[in-house]
Amino acid sequence: MAIEDPLKDIVALCKRRGFVFPGSEIYGGLSNTFDYGPYGSELLRNLKNRWWKAFVSERADVVGLDSGILLHPRVWEASGHVSSFNDPMIDCKNCRARYRADQYLEDQLGIETSNLDLDGIKKKLLENPDLKCPSCGAKDFTEPRQFNLMFETKMGATAGSDLTVYLRPETAQGIFINFRNVVDTCRVRVPFGIAQIGKSFRNEIIARQFVFRTREFEQMEMEYFCAPGTQKEWFEHWVDFCKSWLEGLGIQSENLRVRSHDPEELAFYSEGTVDLEYNFPFGWGELWGIASRTSYDLGKHMEFSGKKLEYQDPETKEKYVPFVVEPALGLNRLFLAVLCDAYEVEDAGTKEQRVLLKLHPSLAPVKAGIFPLVKKDGLPEIAEKLYKDLAKHWPVDYDTSGNIGKRYYRQDELGTPFCITVDYDSKDDQKATVRERDSKNQERVSLDQMVNYIRDRLDD
Ligand SMILES: [Zn+2]
Repeated sequence: MAIEDPLKDIVALCKRRGFVFPGSEIYGGLSNTFDYGPYGSELLRNLKNRWWKAFVSERADVVGLDSGILLHPRVWEASGHVSSFNDPMIDCKNCRARYRADQYLEDQLGIETSNLDLDGIKKKLLENPDLKCPSCGAKDFTEPRQFNLMFETKMGATAGSDLTVYLRPETAQGIFINFRNVVDTCRVRVPFGIAQIGKSFRNEIIARQFVFRTREFEQMEMEYFCAPGTQKEWFEHWVDFCKSWLEGLGIQSENLRVRSHDPEELAFYSEGTVDLEYNFPFGWGELWGIASRTSYDLGKHMEFSGKKLEYQDPETKEKYVPFVVEPALGLNRLFLAVLCDAYEVEDAGTKEQRVLLKLHPSLAPVKAGIFPLVKKDGLPEIAEKLYKDLAKHWPVDYDTSGNIGKRYYRQDELGTPFCITVDYDSKDDQKATVRERDSKNQERVSLDQMVNYIRDRLDD
């Protein structure tokens, strides 16, 4: 029995309009992988560019980095990922279906499991011998055991000398291990941040909800290094900064909330964590975790590498290991949140029904659709020239197919803020009709003013 998927309409739009395709589709698909199509890749790029601009380019106190996906395996020993980046897992002995044990207990018993360790999970399973495998109905599970979420691979060309390495499960450690390099080369002074965007990999037992939780994903992370004693102030600064940045993308504020972690949810070294959550069609989900991590990470890398990762204040000459505030954002989740937030159906069920993405113009994959009214009488020539002028500045679409209403409909579903129609009058007045996506208002604009007209309205 299929469960009604609250994301169904958005997933369908993503496929229909070239935002997101199921991964490896012509080979029957590979579970929980996705490929971003022509319009999805533009939206991802726009999100990354906006983030980089606000968090790196516009800030004198933050620099960028692009560290490797493959790092020395000791990095993950130091970070604790080798020993404790685990999820508890059980397998059905009958059909071999695999479940994340804590999630399974939550689903089956409706209990809270975040406070249960592996022994606690074992106990709960023993207390409930009637629990069935949701896929085959058998009551025969393996003992729960810890399953490490890092993807392993082998490095090296000769048999026997292979080194086991991991695909990074987070981008943060690449920043910590380059702390010394950045301080020594870039004339940064505490407080300062190092930011990067990149792919991470986690071999989740359960991955679901479209692109919300995938085993391959992209992060936009920053480590902000500050003097001990100032971390609370910086933590508050970054919570506010991140929230305003999200609101600046046009995300409706009633769909955003700030959730502080309870003390029992916190890692032992953490002084506080706040999640910025979005109200997805399947419920509230984390977009951004902002954590006050003390000097734990640098301290661990000092211990494991034997290298000094202290900072000396140039004025007071005082030496210390900086404290860290980490805002970590999942790009693919943000992508999904932005789409869910922008998705709207007007006049649903009527002949006038219109599906549109009310994307912030700076995020829209295409900034303008350009249509000659007919494919003759010199109109395509005018429209093609306009296309070339605008394409120097932004991605734009040129469309001659079907009636104007159909062309509008397609662009509305892509979230294109402006549609420009070149008609017979354009030959005389050198103007075209610009139709705005949300209001459907139309305006005649001079062809030679079109670049300025659009630029003024993109609010980059
Ligand atoms: Zn089973």
